[in-house]
Parts: sequence; structure tokens; C-alpha cells
Amino acid sequence: MEIKMLIDGKLVGSKSGNTIEAINPATEEMLGTAPLGEEADVNKAVESASKAFKEWSQQSIEKRGHVLRGIARAIRERSDEIAKIEAADSGNPLARVRHDIEKSAQVLEYYAGLGYEMTGRTVPATLEHLHMTVREPYGVCARIVPFNHPFLFIAARIAAPLMAGNTVVVKPSDQAPLSSGIFSEILSETVPQGVVNIVTGDGKTGDLLVRHPKVPRIAFTGSVATGLRIQKSAAESGRIKHISLELGGKNPMILFPDADLEKAVAGVIKGMGFSWQGQSCGSTSRFFVHDSIYDRTVEAVVAKLSKFKVGDPLAADTNMGPIISKAQYEKVVSYVESAQQEGATLAFGGKRPEGMDRGYWILPTVFSDVRPTMRIAREEIFGPVLSILKFTDEEEAVQLANDCDYGLTGSIWTTDVNRAIRLSKKIESGYIWVNETATHFDQLPFGGYKQSGLGREEGIEELLSYTQVKTIHLVQQL
Ligand code: NAD
Repeated sequence: MEIKMLIDGKLVGSKSGNTIEAINPATEEMLGTAPLGEEADVNKAVESASKAFKEWSQQSIEKRGHVLRGIARAIRERSDEIAKIEAADSGNPLARVRHDIEKSAQVLEYYAGLGYEMTGRTVPATLEHLHMTVREPYGVCARIVPFNHPFLFIAARIAAPLMAGNTVVVKPSDQAPLSSGIFSEILSETVPQGVVNIVTGDGKTGDLLVRHPKVPRIAFTGSVATGLRIQKSAAESGRIKHISLELGGKNPMILFPDADLEKAVAGVIKGMGFSWQGQSCGSTSRFFVHDSIYDRTVEAVVAKLSKFKVGDPLAADTNMGPIISKAQYEKVVSYVESAQQEGATLAFGGKRPEGMDRGYWILPTVFSDVRPTMRIAREEIFGPVLSILKFTDEEEAVQLANDCDYGLTGSIWTTDVNRAIRLSKKIESGYIWVNETATHFDQLPFGGYKQSGLGREEGIEELLSYTQVKTIHLVQQL
């Protein structure tokens, strides 16, 4: 299939005719192409969004909400078609992809209902002064997203900027761009001309957007390395830009002996995002287990994972599909090798499933006897590799958990509520689960401490992050 972009309300190819290829990671075959957005395409999309901003920002909250609900409705109508394309293009299992698509519709509806919460304040001073603050949109927002939830990130993450009155230019992932073609079609029928533009392409396309003088607000989800490049490019553009960054993680999960072991084992498998091939920013990839239950825990994780079904992403009973790309697959394999060289014990996986010679396949992988200094315990792999480490007391657990540059999520398993609260405060991460992993609620802000990011997404925080505050200082005639 050959998908199109959405620029200025029209479904188009790139001006140059150049394209990027979409590869099926399960078979290594070419699935289709997407336009390679270059300078002329990016400029046209930004000009269109800039023009559309004048009218869109003046629309009532009611009208903007109505448009968002219309997008959600259209997504549900085409969910089957989106799911199949996305599963083939990304390798994510169909059931998981269906969940992402429904979630996208729900997030659009959530922000459609949240518009009246973009409130300001009134501030007293003297009898004749009436001070107030109001929230206003920035203008054109660039939304640059990664490959692991390709549709969710392009669809759900336009809701807040639009509701706040901005217009948006989206740059989907170059690694799984195909579902964006259907989204462009949906938007061409549900959104006023220019209010959302979708420009497919690679890192260069993203960079052009970042540097564009008419893009004051950039929201990026992806790796730390690209996040840093974006901050640099934004500064080099000579314009002050408002940037939010949702970046990587190497997240700790800490298991104490008083917790429910069975639930914790299910929790770490869910938390690792094995059913997304471990390609989850919030994945609990550093699993710290109290030494009194260490061996039992490793055995229970291995027993559960050995029932995991790795296979065709389009099959209904698949638990885990292939890694997104050859480069990412090779990166995962190199971490497996480094772990073995550094002396960790391969407890499960670490190799291709039998008989699957084509495609980017690897079994869910578990290493025990991992030491905190090993590369697999420090670096984000973004693949299905779980490191299980040992601790002896609470203080050591906190020290080990925080000895890391990342700070996205953390998970604490205990039935001692005092310990749970104590550790929740001590762990240096932006999002803490207690006796839970992975689950997000629309109302709760998500984002990183330390190298894991800047700003918060989800909840009212995301909506407000697309507004700037204006103070009105008013003197009344008494
Ligand atoms: P990536 O940083 O390689 O790419 C992300 C996006 O940025 C892609 O669309 C890419 O084309 C674009 N890009 C690349 N270079 C660019 C540049 N110089 N300027 C502008 N745009 C550029 O990330 P990825 O490999 O697609 O995704 C994996 C990473 O994303 C992991 O580190 C993961 O932890 C992170 N992630 C974070 C969250 C979160 O919410 N914190 C969620 C999902 C993924």
C-alpha cells in the first residue's frame, strides 16, 4: 500500500515524490510506502496550520469538543482496518493494537470534555483593581512521536493541543508509518482544513519541523538522544521554543517478601511490556527482588514466560510479536551478548524461537544474577530483556533503584503501607505504582524525572501544557 500525508486538508504525496519504506518485521517483506516529507512539504504544512490557527483558536470550547468527538467516532468506525495495518507494520499483537485504538478514541473524548477546566484565576489587590489570568494557545504545535504505539501516539496526543486552541503538525514514526495514512483520511473528513497536518518522514523531517520559525511549541516522545538533539536544534533556530520531552526509562520494580508473589510475577511481566516486545518506555526492566525470595521469584517468572506465545502479530492468541526493525533487533541481541560476557545468568530466552528464521524474532528474555554495574542493568534496551537483581534491605533497594540516570517510572510491591509511602517519596521517578505496573489512567499525569523528560502528559497537566498564561491587570472606575 502507498499511503498519503495530510497537508492543508488534502491527501498528498511528497512534493519530490520520495518515499520511505514500511517493512513487516515478522517477515522482512515490504508492506508499503509513505511519503518522505521534505522542506517544501514541512513548510506547506506549517503555513497551513499557521493560517488555520486564526479561526480555530477563536472557536468555542463546545465546537472544539465536537470536532474531537467526531474524530473519536470515525476512529471507532475504521478500527478493524487500522488494527490490521498497524499489527503488520509494527509487529505489535492485534489484541494490544485494538486496545490502543480504542484508547485513542477515549482520550479524544476525555479532552473534549475537559475544555472548561482551562481556567485562570482572579486575584484581589485594592477596591478598584480586578486582576485575572487567562490561558491562551501557543499557535502551531509540532507533535513528533516514536514507533512503539504508532497510532495511539498520533491520534490520542493531538487531543490536548487541539482542545487548547492550537493547530498541530504531526510527524509519525518512520518505522511504522502506515496507520497514519488511515488517520490522515479520517482527519480530512472530520477536521477543518489545516487544523491538523500529518507529515510522514524521517528524523530530517522532524528536524525541519523543530527548526521552523512558525512552530513555537514542540512536543516530543522518543529517545533521550533525539530529545537532546531537539533542544539543540530549537536553540539553533534562534527562536525561543516551548518544548516537552517524554523520553526513555530503565525503570525499577522492587519486590519485598510480604507482597503477593504470584501477583508480583504477573505484574513484572505486564510491567516489562513483553506483549509489546519490551518496547515500552515505562517497562520495569530492572527487577529488584529481596534475597529471601530471589530464587523462587526467578523460577516463577521463567515458568510464566515459558507459556508465552511468540508468533504472528495478526493471530488472536499471540502474546508477543517481532521486534520493530533489524537495527533494533541487533541492538537487543548485542545486549544479550554483553550480559553473558559480563557474567549474568541467562534464565530464559535470549535466542530466536525455533523455526522462525525470517523476521526480527527473539524470545522473551530473563537474566538473573545481574549486578547493578552491568550494561543491561543501566542502559535502556527497549526490547524484551528483563534483569533480575538482588537486594537485602530497604535502604539498599532505594539506593540501587536511584542509581540510574533515568527516572520515568517505579513500582513497589509490599503490603506495608508505611513502607509503600516512604519508598514512593524516595524513588526518583515521575510515576510510581504500588502493587501495580503499566496501567495508565487518563486523569493521571505521566512523565519523567532526571534524563527521562521534561513536562507531563496525560491528565489536565497535558491540556494546560498547551496553554500560556496571560495576566490582565484591570483598574475599574469606581
Ligand atoms: P527516536 O528518538 O529514535 O524517534 C522518535 C521520533 O523522532 C521519530 O518520529 C523520529 O523520526 C524522530 N526524529 C529522529 N531524529 C529527529 C531529529 N533530529 N529531530 C526531530 N525528530 C527526530 O525514538 P524511537 O526509537 O522511535 O522510540 C523509542 C524511544 O522512545 C525509547 O527511548 C522510549 O523509551 C521512548 N518513549 C518514551 C515514551 C514516554 O512517554 N516517555 C513513550 C514511548 C517511547
